[in-house]
Order: sequence, then C-alpha cells, then structure tokens
Amino acid sequence: MKKRYRTGDLIWVRERNLTILLNYVWGEQQPISRARLVEMSGLNKTTVGNLLAQLNKWGFVTASGISGPKRGRPGVLLEINADGGRLIGVEIGVGFLSVVVTDLKARTLWCRKVETAENEMFPSVQDPGQVIEQFEHLVREAMRATEARGRLFGIGVGVPGLVDRDTGVLLFAPNLGWKDMPLRDLWQSRFGVPVIVENEANAAALGEHMLGVARQVDHFVYLSAGVGLGGGLFIKGNLQGGAGGFAGEIGHMTIEPDGPLCNCGNRGCWEMLVGPRAIVERLRQAVIEGRAPSLLALCHGNPDAIQMEHILQAAAQGEPAVLSALSDVGRYLGIGIANLVNVLNPSLVVLGGVLSLAGPYILPRAQQELDSRALAATRRDVKIILSAFKFDACVVGGVALTLRAILDNPVRWQPKTSLPVPAEESMAFTGSLE
Ligand SMILES: [Zn+2]
Repeated sequence: MKKRYRTGDLIWVRERNLTILLNYVWGEQQPISRARLVEMSGLNKTTVGNLLAQLNKWGFVTASGISGPKRGRPGVLLEINADGGRLIGVEIGVGFLSVVVTDLKARTLWCRKVETAENEMFPSVQDPGQVIEQFEHLVREAMRATEARGRLFGIGVGVPGLVDRDTGVLLFAPNLGWKDMPLRDLWQSRFGVPVIVENEANAAALGEHMLGVARQVDHFVYLSAGVGLGGGLFIKGNLQGGAGGFAGEIGHMTIEPDGPLCNCGNRGCWEMLVGPRAIVERLRQAVIEGRAPSLLALCHGNPDAIQMEHILQAAAQGEPAVLSALSDVGRYLGIGIANLVNVLNPSLVVLGGVLSLAGPYILPRAQQELDSRALAATRRDVKIILSAFKFDACVVGGVALTLRAILDNPVRWQPKTSLPVPAEESMAFTGSLE
C-alpha cells in the first residue's frame, strides 16, 4: 500500500528545513543575507548556517558578495548557484521539437527548434519512431554543447496529450496520433538522468508560475492555444491534476451544444471555437466568399494556404473581415473564461501560444464578455494577461518541471559524490552572524 502520510522523524525535519531554505533563496530572486533567512525561517543561526553549508556543498546555493553596511557587521549574501548544474526542457509539438538547456537559475545556455518529419502515409500524423530519433539526436547535441556547465539534473518534456503522471506514459496525443508511449522510462534508460513527462499546457503553466508572469500567483488559469486548446489550473500554488491527472482539458468544455464536431467526438468544444484551426477555417471561408481581399493577397490567392501569421498581418493592416472574425473569437474566448472564472475564482488568466500573439485583436471583446457574464464577485479581481514566453512557454515549462522537483526536495537531488567546495566559501556559511 502506498504510504499516504510520512511521519516526522529527525531526517524528515532536516529535509523540510533544507527545502524551506532553498525555496526562500529561490523566491528572493536576488542575493539574500543569512540574517534575513534566520528571520524568515524562524530557525536559529547555527541551524541555518549548517543547512546552508549543506545546500552549498551540494551545489544548490553559493555565496554572492557581502551585504551593505545598513546595520551591524556586513554579512555574507547567498543566491542560487547558477553553475550548480544544467536543466533540459523539451517540447514535442505538432510538427516541431524544441529543446532548451539552462543553468540552475533557468538562464538559457543553448536552445534549438526543429521541424519534425511527418508520416509519409498520413501527413497529419507524426511518425513516433522518426520523432523519437530526432528527439534523442537533439538532446544528445544539447548535452554535448553544454557539457562544461556542470552536471545534468534532468530532462522535462512537455507533450500535447494526456500523460499518466505515475508512470510517465503518454496515453493519448490526438494531434500527433500517438498512443500509449512509455516516454519517461524509455528516456530515463537512454540518458541516465531523471525524466519528467507532462502535458504541454500544464508544463507551460508551471513555467509561468516559476519563471514568468504568474510568479507568486497562487490561483491562476493558463490557456494554451497550439494546434488545440489546453489549460493548466493552479489552485493554492499547486498545479491541479484531478483524480487521474487529466484536469485542465478545458479545450473540450462544451460552449455550443450543436457546434462543429471536435477530434474528441463531442460537438461545440471550446477548442473548435477559439483554437487556431477554428480561426483559420473561419477566415478561409471569408476569403472564399470574397470578404477578405487583403488576406487573399497575403496567402497568394490560395485560401488553403492561410496561416495564422497571414491572419495577424491582415489584422495589423485593418482588414475588416479579419478583425470581425478575431472579435468573434474574443467573444467565445470571453464566454469560456467567464465560466472558468466563476468556477475557479482565479486572480489571473494567462493566454499563451497563438492567443498571446492575437491578444490585441481578441482581448477587448473577451474582456467585455467576461465583464457581462461572470459574477461580480469572481470577476472583480481577475486580470487577463499574455504569457511571458509565448510560443516557448512549454519548453521553458520543461525546465520548470525539474526545477520544481529540486525545490520540492533538494535532498533527493544531491550529487552522488560530493562536489569540491572552496574552503573560504564553506566557512562563509557557518561563520558568525551579526
Ligand atoms: Zn473536444
């Protein structure tokens, strides 16, 4: 039987305290003094000094100068050790792979985005064998290119589908045409480091929470429009998985009972009304009916070649049919957001992917719908904002997956062999505190 509660022996207490101190150092986003950490944690000076020395020995924190002479003797300042190791984030998208390597402060060391091969028989489906081969090639290249930057903690992978969190199996990715793929175990054995696989919108939401526009925000909803429409739900500072880990499939909320048929089998799903596919299809019709001449010119007279970038260009040129279609999208977006806001009472709704680019054309209408439909109490404190990372939100989220795991319990991520620590640095943590 899986243990539901862990009892609090001394080892557990130490683990908790190491975790708390590391999170304080991380959360500060700038060098922090030991005296301040004593104040924040409520632990005594000696304990804080010992715990910090341990975190330093494992390579998670480092000394970073001396505090100013505000009061008392100057003290040593601490920060996350950027050189403590590397993190790899990967997004397996529909038609592309994106890889980023960062240091422990999540600063980019290396990144690459490539198109993936399609299945020759079914061009809309990504051949898993080929994509996996490309993925492994790219990750090895990333590892080699950054080899000199310290140990590799792990690889976080965002995928456009349902993931079993316990096993790391990608259960179903409709837009890739993949089913039941044990990605975590496969890559852990190939790369010899921990691999975390997560739904792309969830990964992106975590990235915004740890590194982007939703830092320190405990209640928010992330909406991600790639090929489909996904969502990540944060409640009380935690990503919500629901009973099976599949919570957040907001793209399949029914918004129009008799609306267009969705890939999932339902009709009138939100994704069918505000997703990029829906936007392109709506404007393809407008072009065919001769209502959007500037868009017709941008797609070189071929309505089947319309892409989101043409639509955004036409919108920037003020094409009335395009602006009106995007306003309709804003209307449906606002209706769905009003429902989410009433149910979850978030303080932030973050729009990612294509939605973040189309923001200026759809947000005013979405806001209007939200204001007229959501309850006064729930809509009062909510803001709709655009993602910090736009199309890179998921790959940044991949980095955040491993980072979150480290911050949740640094003890589990200690190096197998102790790292050499310069004597003077080691002294800095346990020396006297003013
Ligand atoms: Zn659906």
